[in-house]
Amino acid sequence: MASFTGRVFGPGLAGTGEVAQAQWQHGQLRLQTPSLSLDMGVNPHITGGGFNAEQLRVSWQAPEGEFVFFVDAGAAQAAFVADLPPQWRAQLAGAQRSQSRVRARWRWGIAALVLCLSVPLAALVALVVRSDAVAAWVVQWVPPAYEAKLGDLVLVQTQAQMRLIDSGPAVEALRQMGEKLVPHSPYRYRWLLADHPDVNAFAAPGGVVVVFSGLLMAADTPEEVAAVLAHEVAHAELRHGLQGVVKSLGLQAGAVLLGDATGVAVPGLLSHLLERQFSREAETAADAEGLRRLVAARIDPANMVVFMKKLAAKEKGVELPQWLSTHPAPEDRAARLQAQVSTLPGPWQPLAIDWAAVQRSLPRQP
Ligand SMILES: [Zn+2]
Repeated sequence: MASFTGRVFGPGLAGTGEVAQAQWQHGQLRLQTPSLSLDMGVNPHITGGGFNAEQLRVSWQAPEGEFVFFVDAGAAQAAFVADLPPQWRAQLAGAQRSQSRVRARWRWGIAALVLCLSVPLAALVALVVRSDAVAAWVVQWVPPAYEAKLGDLVLVQTQAQMRLIDSGPAVEALRQMGEKLVPHSPYRYRWLLADHPDVNAFAAPGGVVVVFSGLLMAADTPEEVAAVLAHEVAHAELRHGLQGVVKSLGLQAGAVLLGDATGVAVPGLLSHLLERQFSREAETAADAEGLRRLVAARIDPANMVVFMKKLAAKEKGVELPQWLSTHPAPEDRAARLQAQVSTLPGPWQPLAIDWAAVQRSLPRQP
């Protein structure tokens, strides 16, 4: 029989009670304290006891007076209950019912307290959440399942505000190369193709990736698009977008993450994602992570550099697409990536995509 401890009060014991080592022996509970050993009587009374009723209170009458033994919650209570003789089980059940009633009262009390505290606390959070460090800290507590709600919201807004191409070779190609880049992701990715001439793509929190048809038009090979996707997916996997949303929307983002994601809650979410600017650190991290994902998918990472250089040359003097225009300067990024790429061994596997057919299928021709 397992032995366990509790605190016992009664005649001949210290006024503050004594720690007792207890053990069931032949249906009898024997207690040993530093000053005496005693047996629980034949007529114990078992109730919930202690602060919050989490303890069991076992009392019995002895010739010298009443003894009360408190069994702590957890292992001690489990050991007490495991070997409790059947004749006292009904008493135990009553005690456990009263314990759970008290626990329920506590939960309600705490809920009411939280409610009272949450209003000023929410105001405080609203003030501090708009800093990078705090946003990063907040984001680490957001489970991917909540983040997916933001993704759903972006999906709804994208469908409402952009003309989407929902089938055909281009959509298939996008999904095919995208899925190669997100093995073992906690997110369920949705690959959307918007009919829009901008050379642009973005990954929203929660795995919604939107690619503009202009990007497919500007690329000469599917690998160049895969390189852009790898960079955008890296932003999503590193949760940069979520940090940005938390930072700029503050509590509104909290409302979406914790409550109902209705389209009304965050009307500006899509435009926020389109206008966002990541920090230099975030861009460098996304380049490195994107590169890693390309290499893991055996897609030649040199395409990242190729496409970046091509756009930098083409767009000189013209406003660069958002994903490229953020600092550091494209030339610097291309040079840094080039240095990293040149150290990577192949061989690389070309994507099995008929790129000419993909481009022909788009509503806007180059
Ligand atoms: Zn980026």
